[in-house]
Formats: sequence, C-alpha cells, structure tokens
Amino acid sequence: MSEQPGKLVIISGPSGVGKSTIVPLVLSHFRGRLAPSISATTRPPRPGEVDGRNYHFLRSSEFRRRLDAGEFLESVEVFGRGHWYGTLAEEVLPRLHRGVWVMLEIDVDGTRRVLEQYPQALTIFIEPSSMHELERRLRARKTDAEEAIERRLAVAREEMQRAGEYRFRIVNDTIEGAVAEICSVLQEQGLKPSDR
Ligand code: 5GP
Repeated sequence: MSEQPGKLVIISGPSGVGKSTIVPLVLSHFRGRLAPSISATTRPPRPGEVDGRNYHFLRSSEFRRRLDAGEFLESVEVFGRGHWYGTLAEEVLPRLHRGVWVMLEIDVDGTRRVLEQYPQALTIFIEPSSMHELERRLRARKTDAEEAIERRLAVAREEMQRAGEYRFRIVNDTIEGAVAEICSVLQEQGLKPSDR
C-alpha cells in the first residue's frame, strides 16, 4: 500500500466540451493510480448511460435522504429547476486513503465547495476552442431538446467566465492534444503513468 495519500483532481468545463471523451482516455493512462468518482444524479440516464458507471442514478427521495445523512462531499442543483448532482464521500475518501488519486468531473459551484474542504485539489478547466464550436457539438449530440441546449449554452457562458478560478486551463482543440496536456499536468504533479 502507498504511504502517501492520493490527490484530488477536479475537471470542469461546459457541457458539450468533450469531458466525457477526454476523461476516460486520461484515466486509461493512469490505471490503478487514478480512479473516477462516479457522481450521483437525479437526472434520467441518456441512451447508452449505465447506472454505476456513468452516474449513480438516484430517485429524488433517495438523493435527499443521502444528502440529509451527510453522505455528500458537495452537491448542486444544475440547470435551474432541473436536477441534482453530487459527489458521494464514499467514492472519494477510501481511495485517497489508499493512495489512489481521484478524479471528479463536476461543475464550477461544486468545485468551489470541494476547494473549501480540500484547498490542495488540482483544478483543471477544459475550454472549447470557441462558443460556436461548443454549440455545434451540443447540437450534434442530439440528446437534448432545443430548450435544454439553450439552457446549457447559457450555463456554459457563465462557467467560462469562472475558468480563471482553476489552476490549469486546457483548450480542447483536439481530443488527443487535450488528453496529452492533462496527462502531463498530472505527471508534473507526481502521478505515475501505469505500466503498459
Ligand atoms: P450532464 O447532465 O451533462 O452529465 O452533466 C451536467 C453538468 O453536471 C456537468 O457540468 C457536470 O460537470 C456536472 N456534474 C456532474 N456530476 C456532478 C457532481 O457530482 N457535482 C457537481 N457539482 N456537478 C456535477
């Protein structure tokens, strides 16, 4: 077992920026040393999403019960009157104690809350090459209704204005480039790549 505790890595960026493509590729470079925190959410699964892999999909009542029981490190209601998302302590703390680094893919409000508790967390913000490109990707995804796309774009504009709160900012010009940049940030911070 490692004697050093693991570190927290927080990845944020507007929805549609490519996080769900980039994050698994980054994780695959550090297998066994960096694990994803699977968030809980009350939003319904999108086609292809699997409970326990993409998210823990919870009913609102179950989310509320676990919130009241103090099981979350942070939680937020994203997209106005929409759905709840949160990081369960059990996804994070046991791994950190074992020396495994944990990657959280959460929004800017959640990041602020985690930083209050873990000021040393490494924070990385992924930006699109332009808002135009982000809009194109959200539409190409074809998973959201027009109203949801508009709402995501409005949230994206707000989030981009807070990118300066993050220690590292990465522009997703190409997936390979963004993955390589994130991997080198993590290695500079002391994370060893897995043996391949
Ligand atoms: P989506 O519905 O597209 O999967 O995610 C919407 C937003 O919720 C994304 O910006 C994502 O980073 C954020 N999010 C996902 N899980 C969590 C979480 O556990 N906590 C917080 N604060 N935000 C989250």
